[in-house]
Amino acid sequence: MAPKTATKMQKVKAGLEEKSAASRSSQPAEESHYPGKWFALCVFFAGLSSLYYWYTSYQASASLSYVPSESGTSNVGEPPVFKVVDIPGKGKGILAERDIKQGELVLKEKPLFVVPRDITSSPAALIYNKLQLMTAEQRRAYLDLSYVNFSEDLDPVKNPSEVALAIFQTNAVSAGENVGIFPRMARLNHGCSSAFNVVYNWRHYEQQLVVHALKDIKKGEELLTTYTDTKRPKAERRTFLASRYGFQCTCYVCSLPPQLSKASDSRLSEISKLYGEFASWSAQKIDGNEAIEMIRKIWNIEDQEGYLSERGSLAADAVWIAAAHSDSERVREWGLLAMRWFSNEIGADTPQVKDMERYVSRPETHKAWGTRSRLDVGAPGRSR
Ligand SMILES: [Zn+2]
Repeated sequence: MAPKTATKMQKVKAGLEEKSAASRSSQPAEESHYPGKWFALCVFFAGLSSLYYWYTSYQASASLSYVPSESGTSNVGEPPVFKVVDIPGKGKGILAERDIKQGELVLKEKPLFVVPRDITSSPAALIYNKLQLMTAEQRRAYLDLSYVNFSEDLDPVKNPSEVALAIFQTNAVSAGENVGIFPRMARLNHGCSSAFNVVYNWRHYEQQLVVHALKDIKKGEELLTTYTDTKRPKAERRTFLASRYGFQCTCYVCSLPPQLSKASDSRLSEISKLYGEFASWSAQKIDGNEAIEMIRKIWNIEDQEGYLSERGSLAADAVWIAAAHSDSERVREWGLLAMRWFSNEIGADTPQVKDMERYVSRPETHKAWGTRSRLDVGAPGRSR
C-alpha cells in the first residue's frame, strides 16, 4: 500500500516559503518551488465517493508501474538518463542510469495539472476537479506519489480525500503563477549544500519544468535536488526540514563527522553573512570594489564547500555592479562567467544567458550602466 507506507518518505516539497537556490538563479523569467501558504489550511474533502473509488482501484493496481515516470528523457538509441527505484529509508528516489555531465538537461516535464497559486475557493475542491479530468493512468501516477503530514489516526483507505490533498501539499511546486504536480520530478529526494546535484526550474515560455545537472554525476549516483535554502548550519536546516517536511536529513553533508561538519557550518554561515553584507551595495553602504570583493569571497568559500548553485545570479550581480560603475571590461568578464553558470543551472537557451551575451558584447546596454560614479572594479578570481 504505497501511499500509507510513503507517509514518512522524504518527498516534501510543498509549503516551501523560502526561495530555493534554483529560484534565485532563475529570476525573473523562471522560478522553482512553491512558496504559497494557503496549503497550510487543511481542507477536508467530504463525501467524494468517486475519489474513494479511484483510490481503492489504485490500491488494487498498485503493483503496476507508471511507465512514463520510470525513466529519464534521452535521444533515440541512447540509454535513459535515470531510473526511479526504491531507496532504503527514503521510499522512491532517482538514480543516474549513465554518467551525466554538469549542465546537462536531465528532465523536461509538463505538469500533470496546475492550480492557481492565489485562489479564493477551496483547494480541495480544485484538486478534486482536476482528478476528475485525469485518465486512469494519470490518477495512478498522482496517487502513487508520497505524502507527509497525514494524521496517524486516519486510515488512508477510508480517507482518500485527505490522502489526495496531502499528496498535493507534499509534491506541488511552483509553476509561474500556478502551482503544479510533476510526477517524475517529484521523485527527486533532497540533499543539503554540496549534496544536491540537480536543480529544477519552471520555464514560463515553454510551460514546463526543466531539471539540469549542477555537477557531474556518476552512473548509479542518486539525483538530489534541494527543497530549501541550505546555506545555514546543520542543526538549523535539519530542524527546519524535520518540522516542515517531516524527515531527518541523512544527506552526506548532514552525515559528516563532527570536525568536518563544523567546518561546513562555518563556511555556510559565512556565505550567508557575506550575502547579507553584499546586499548593502544597493543602499550605497559599501562601494563597488567592496561589493565585488564580497562576491569573490562568496565564490571562494563556495568552492571550498562544494556549493555550486546560484552562481549565475552571483556573477550577474557582479555584472550589474560593474555596469553601474561603467567598467566595461569587468562587465564582459563577469558576464562570461554568468553565461557559463546560468547555462549549467538553468540551460543555455534561457533569457538570462541571452541577456548576459548582450552585455558581454555591448556593456552599455545594461540598464544599470553609468548609474554610479566611474570605477574600475575587481575581476573574477582576482582583485583589481
Ligand atoms: Zn542534509
